[in-house]
Amino acid sequence: MAAKSCQDGHPAEAFGWAARDHSGVLSPFKFSRRATGEKDVAIKVLFCGICHSDLHMIKNEWGISSYPVVPGHEIVGQVTGVGSKVEKFKVGDKVGVGYMVGSCQSCDSCHDDLENYCPETIVTSGGKYHDGATTYGGFSDIMVADEHYVIRIPENLPLDAGAPLLCAGITVYSPLKYYGLDKPGMHVGVVGLGGLGHVAVKFAKAMGIKVTVISTSPKKKQEALEHLGAHSFLVSRDPDQMQAAMGTMDGIIDTVSTMHPLFPLIGLLKTQGKLVLVGAPEKPLELPVFPLITGRKIVGGSSIGGIKETQEMIDFAAKNNITADVEVIPMDYVNTALERLSKSDVRYRFIQFPAQWNLPQ
Ligand code: NAP
Ligand code: ZN
Ligand code: ZN
Repeated sequence: MAAKSCQDGHPAEAFGWAARDHSGVLSPFKFSRRATGEKDVAIKVLFCGICHSDLHMIKNEWGISSYPVVPGHEIVGQVTGVGSKVEKFKVGDKVGVGYMVGSCQSCDSCHDDLENYCPETIVTSGGKYHDGATTYGGFSDIMVADEHYVIRIPENLPLDAGAPLLCAGITVYSPLKYYGLDKPGMHVGVVGLGGLGHVAVKFAKAMGIKVTVISTSPKKKQEALEHLGAHSFLVSRDPDQMQAAMGTMDGIIDTVSTMHPLFPLIGLLKTQGKLVLVGAPEKPLELPVFPLITGRKIVGGSSIGGIKETQEMIDFAAKNNITADVEVIPMDYVNTALERLSKSDVRYRFIQFPAQWNLPQ
């Protein structure tokens, strides 16, 4: 890490890839990161997953992006430096950073280990630090983060296939626990077999839950059943299959990234069943009320998880040999990868490969 000052006025020279506009195309980007503060951890980024939220942000589909956007919030790396008051980490440790790098640390949510619901959560990519500086994500060579928001990676967890757990993993683990869908013998549906969906199947299975995948892609059936070990598979666009499964599920984790009908999913729930939305489509979904009223059913949402729970999730994953299925790619493949992700053409998470991070001179 260079000590001289560079482009954005911070001392640590960094390079990565950034979107400059909503075209969806990334290109090399030189910037800088802050000096390692007394509670900060400096990290050499080793692997970074590509989440569909990155795609939403790159294309400004949520209307909140401020360019340049350096995406990436499924970051795994190695500690290269620690501030004088850092207690949890030392140089050489394997660590992760997820969707969040800051919060107010004084509100009720922060006190309850739910920093993810703090009104002042600072997101890892495309957010603002308290001093107004933009947050740049993990599609870059180095990170600097407050140790509170850094996760310890257990020794036996592969670094590449473990990276997606930092966002995809916690985003499905947290609602399974919070909504009480983690009891052995329960039946849970997972809608959308993408990055989040495939790890949801793995966590649910490890909890002893019967899992049904609900997908628009009939071609994913064999792999869902034979490789991921789902108990059954429904094609959501096949009314006969959906009809046959009506009223059978205790809960559903919906990971779909775009507009889709909720009515058929609510029909799959038992009386008092819970539909939990974690996918974040750019427009509001239509919510039919009558099937909720007549079945006392619940529709809820969930956003990533707090830091304590994220550590718990990573430790649970390591203990149960849960990792993501990944396609490790060189950095200069990223634009093709984003295009493929937009077409659900990935099994099931792209991971950036660090050796390729160097900028063309
Ligand atoms: P992904 O890998 O693209 O998976 C999404 C899946 O949704 C696809 O694989 C596809 O599965 C299904 N799908 C796509 N288009 C569809 C359509 N028109 N109708 C029905 N299903 C469709 O994305 P991801 O990374 O898992 O992320 C999923 C969503 O979760 C994104 O919106 C992302 O922003 C959001 N997210 C939220 C949180 C949170 O904290 N709540 C955290 C991370 C991500 P099939 O082929 O099986 O149908
Ligand atoms: Zn994500
Ligand atoms: Zn707070």
